[in-house]
Amino acid sequence: MASSRPEAVGLLLRATRFAAWKHRDQRRKGQRAEPYINHPLELAHVLWFEGGVRDEATLAAALLHDTLEDTQTTVRELQGEFGEEIASIVLEVSDEPSLDWRVRKKLQVTRAKMASPRARLVKLADKICNLRSMIASPPLRWSLERRRAYFDWAREVVAQLRGINPALEERFDHVYRQRP
Ligand code: ZN
Repeated sequence: MASSRPEAVGLLLRATRFAAWKHRDQRRKGQRAEPYINHPLELAHVLWFEGGVRDEATLAAALLHDTLEDTQTTVRELQGEFGEEIASIVLEVSDEPSLDWRVRKKLQVTRAKMASPRARLVKLADKICNLRSMIASPPLRWSLERRRAYFDWAREVVAQLRGINPALEERFDHVYRQRP
């Protein structure tokens, strides 16, 4: 099938390849220890198939969303490869790794409120995917209490993002109801 959006396809292939390379030595922290790249791929899939999102900058940012936070990638590198706009979405959804984790968790809640529409979509898909992973493949050493706290924190973040994509918000509510 011929695509009417060859540039969009090219962008998404470049973003997929870039993320796969950057995350090449990483595994997810769940008991299945899946290849890390499964996670950003899942986000893009959720946005497209469950959220009906057709904006390629949002999809590319989803593929790249953990490269700043979890790999050696720099903002400048993302700007060079993907442009200012996509780099800024990735930056918006990235925690500052030098901060204490408790501070980072609080910041995610306050920053979510002010995030751009594209960043909010990526965040929402991230929370859906993370809770699904927490159910399907919980991290080995996480207590029940810690998993519950994680669900509650994700809900707090999502509360700040609402009004952006009802279908995805419904998906989030659905997975939240499976809180352990
Ligand atoms: Zn993520």
